Amino acid sequence: MRLLLLAPPGAGKGTQGERLAAWSGARHIAAGDLLRAQAHAGGLLGREIAAYQARGDLVPDQIVLDVLTPAVTEAATRGGYILDGFPRTLPQAIAAAELAARLDVTLDAAVYLHAPEAVLTGRLLDRASQSGRSDDRADVIQHRLQVFAETTGLLVPYYTERGILVAVDADQPPDSVTADIQARLSKLSLPRS
Ligand code: ADP
Repeated sequence: MRLLLLAPPGAGKGTQGERLAAWSGARHIAAGDLLRAQAHAGGLLGREIAAYQARGDLVPDQIVLDVLTPAVTEAATRGGYILDGFPRTLPQAIAAAELAARLDVTLDAAVYLHAPEAVLTGRLLDRASQSGRSDDRADVIQHRLQVFAETTGLLVPYYTERGILVAVDADQPPDSVTADIQARLSKLSLPRS
């Protein structure tokens, strides 16, 4: 199974990504986690990534592709991937589609998790005290939601036009969201990896 989770901050793509990976046997690849790991590793590149993340700005496409491509390639050769937070821009989507076509592992579905902005903000503020993330602060949360609306949100029509968008209401308890996603994917009769 080869999926992309497309969702604004706070919609639960990390939680759902882990569950879907356990369900399908595909590897969960969380772009934000891989970039945070690189940031913690330090060095020039790490410091640059950390600065973008702390501001809630997108990390430049070339850096993201350099960090993500090896993980996606490895997962693809093992039969499946659940991409969480990548691609997030049109150039990333085009690069990811070219990579997938080259490896003959194109996307089965792009799952779009949506919820009202007030719900997303509330969840992010709730988790802020435990997350330890530099970007879980009220002002940065607002900015991350704006970046989604202005940039990543454009991928919703992009994948709709390609006929693979699956939109799911994320304003429900996590188990219900998981059940909805699984029901929708089961109807597509995708291969399990
Ligand atoms: P959230 O979706 O809650 O913002 P993530 O962990 O997915 O959490 O992303 C956190 C940050 O990591 C983003 O604000 C951005 O700085 C960076 N990031 C993650 N994925 C990408 C990507 N595909 N392109 C650019 N930056 C990214």
